[in-house]
Amino acid sequence: MQIAIDGPAGAGKSTIAKLLAKKLGFIYIDTGAMYRALALKALANGIDCDDTEAIVAMAKSSKIHFTNHKAIFHIYLDNEDVTDKIRTPEVSRYVSKLASHPLVREIMVEEQKELAKATAVVMDGRDIGECVLPNADYKFFITASLAERTSRRILELSKLGHNIDYEELKDEIAKRDKNDENREVGALKILDDSIVIDTTGKSIEEVLAEVSGIIRE
Ligand code: C5P
Repeated sequence: MQIAIDGPAGAGKSTIAKLLAKKLGFIYIDTGAMYRALALKALANGIDCDDTEAIVAMAKSSKIHFTNHKAIFHIYLDNEDVTDKIRTPEVSRYVSKLASHPLVREIMVEEQKELAKATAVVMDGRDIGECVLPNADYKFFITASLAERTSRRILELSKLGHNIDYEELKDEIAKRDKNDENREVGALKILDDSIVIDTTGKSIEEVLAEVSGIIRE
């Protein structure tokens, strides 16, 4: 069984995907974390986000793996646990540019397909329903208003010790979404078979109940 969850930044995809995976006993795979891990490495190595050749070479030579223990997800880049390091505003600003390189996407999508072969998964990202799991049993498109998504991210980032200005973050999220929606390959979009869920004004429990209800049906 495969469940694909796509949607814009900060819509609550990963929160719902994690809880759903835990509830169903499936493996959760955060594909955004894979792109973020590559962005972290590119930044550490001073690679320009427009330098396709260097970015593709780096993606090819990088080893990304996950551990899922008791529904706690960790991501490793070249055997180092980078779960927290990939959540910085700097990585968020860089990642969408990196993810727009078609060859980088090809490498990531191949790895993601491989990960989903072995077991039942809940996978979240931008192109899961279209490119990674085109035959998924359920394709959810989870969204929320830009204002609410910004507020949620502010809260998340403040828990990690980052103090970010609301308007600045709102602009950044809007820019990242635009980038993700307008790239040539693997663009963020609602598919014909997507089930759209707007989480604006809804609690996590309400959204989880809605998604679970659809799956039970
Ligand atoms: O999900 P998250 O916000 O962590 O994703 C970070 C970025 O990674 C997205 O803005 C997008 O540019 C990229 N991404 C992608 N395809 C995916 C998952 C994430 O291009 N399947």
